[in-house]
Amino acid sequence: MPELPEVETVRRGLERALPGRRIVAVSAPETEPTWLAWQAAWQAALTGRAIHAVRRRAKFLMLDLDDDLALVVHLRMTGALTVNQADEPPARFHRVALRLDNGTELRFGDMRRFGTVEVLDPAGLAARLAALGHEPLDDALDAAAVRAALGRSPRLATKAALLDQRRIAGLGNIYADESLHRAGIHPQTPVGTLTDAEIARLTVAIKEVIAGGVAHNGTTFDAEGFRDAYGNPGGNLAFLRVYHRHGQPCLTCGKDTIAQMRLAGRSTHWCPTCQPERVVSSR
Ligand SMILES: [Zn+2]
Repeated sequence: MPELPEVETVRRGLERALPGRRIVAVSAPETEPTWLAWQAAWQAALTGRAIHAVRRRAKFLMLDLDDDLALVVHLRMTGALTVNQADEPPARFHRVALRLDNGTELRFGDMRRFGTVEVLDPAGLAARLAALGHEPLDDALDAAAVRAALGRSPRLATKAALLDQRRIAGLGNIYADESLHRAGIHPQTPVGTLTDAEIARLTVAIKEVIAGGVAHNGTTFDAEGFRDAYGNPGGNLAFLRVYHRHGQPCLTCGKDTIAQMRLAGRSTHWCPTCQPERVVSSR
């Protein structure tokens, strides 16, 4: 599932191709009833409009168009936004295409169909983004802001808090597990028991893990996995220390084996030595 680094990788690719281009047509395959409806509704709204910028907020991609409209895309589980030549055959799971004035197409594909594409005015966009928490790489997200965002619940697991987009936005399962490992914090540690030193380590870890994911163009596990705007896989898999490595030796301590459990409904990976479970006093 694309997280902030994957979405940012797509954004950077789109930024090379889209600003200054004009949309000349919208099309969807006839086998796609949902997207044919979208095509009918938005043909008039989009055709002829220029694309000015490609922005990102959390896991949302926003193409700024003429007249203060924005094309807003969320990739969810398996969505992909790619720039293709118009005569290239469509990929599997192709949903909708925007033909551009230079003979290329911006295509949205989505195997699992949870992804969304919307055209929003400024009020609609503001509403869509209103509940999102801090951007991880924002300088304003210092240790005090992380403490405030995570709160002091005596029960809420730190991993679950990191996945909550209203607290810190853009982290998903991969980068939450990697951040907790780097900070030496057990995923089940209640946020209310995190020490100032742990919050400080977690703040640094989140920024390093997210920045690393962006620098390596995102994480791709397999042939069906994440692709950038030009169909290329990301290179961050080789840099993961716990995620998807259960049963393998810990690369950090060299002593223990990466463990796995379900937490907040998600597969969670950690090293029992590097991330010891908090011993909770009964009194
Ligand atoms: Zn370890």
